[in-house]
Amino acid sequence: MLYNMSMDCIFCKIASGEIPTEFLYQDKELVVFRDIHPAAPTHLLIVPRRHTPTLATLPDDETPLIGRMALVANRLAREHGMAARGYRVIINSGKNGGQVVPHLHMHLLGGGPLRADPV
Ligand code: AMP
Repeated sequence: MLYNMSMDCIFCKIASGEIPTEFLYQDKELVVFRDIHPAAPTHLLIVPRRHTPTLATLPDDETPLIGRMALVANRLAREHGMAARGYRVIINSGKNGGQVVPHLHMHLLGGGPLRADPV
């Protein structure tokens, strides 16, 4: 299937398989893989296959995607034994939001107590 791929985007390359990466979950819209610099004992990234730079640039008619990302985060949290004690999901958007990779993604962090300040 062809997606709206941005040639220089690292997450597009991971999602398309150009950069081999272990997926902990995948479906036609989303892939999930481990963050390369984990900020918690479990740190996963929920990433849409389609390229959208930020939450801020997500078209209005694609906002249901955020709900799907949250459902997949919940599923992964259960599978990784984080549901009972809790976990955190974060979407950094833009420079002031601390976004480094300009491809929409959701962080799922848990597996131990998290700092009060965000990633
Ligand atoms: P953000 O600051 O929200 O843009 O987060 C981007 C995240 O992507 C950071 O936590 C990075 O450690 C992570 N990251 C960058 N490159 C890779 C990669 N090749 N594989 C896995 N995680 C990555």
